[in-house]
Amino acid sequence: MKDCLFCKIINKEIQTNIVYEDDRLLAFNDINPQAPIHLLIIPKLHISTLNHIGLEHKSLIGEMVLLASKLAKDFDISDNGYRTNFNCNSHGGQTVFHIHLHLLGGRKFHWPPG
Ligand code: 5GP
Ligand code: ZN
Repeated sequence: MKDCLFCKIINKEIQTNIVYEDDRLLAFNDINPQAPIHLLIIPKLHISTLNHIGLEHKSLIGEMVLLASKLAKDFDISDNGYRTNFNCNSHGGQTVFHIHLHLLGGRKFHWPPG
């Protein structure tokens, strides 16, 4: 999508530190990390929010979660543990409207979140 920041990252119009890429997914370092490891996992398909997913995206969403599990192992945060989350719309704190799964690790997180 033309004016989407993450579509520009996918199309390499904006440079970022990519840690994983395949034909359907991309993962890269968050520009403003909230933990020692803070990755964003995105589909190459533009979907603006979690409100816009349907059954047709079932395998794509599953692949995103599987990739989070794989990257947690690769980045050596799986044993200590990590946090994954999707933010949706204003109350969820979403600022980029192309769905992304945050993968955060390397420190302890609190619950409930603020
Ligand atoms: P949200 O608040 O929508 O859940 O998360 C958006 C995330 O994208 C934020 O954590 C923010 O730091 C990150 N971000 C925003 N712009 C850029 C960018 O240009 N490059 C990278 N790598 N991350 C970005
Ligand atoms: Zn997009």
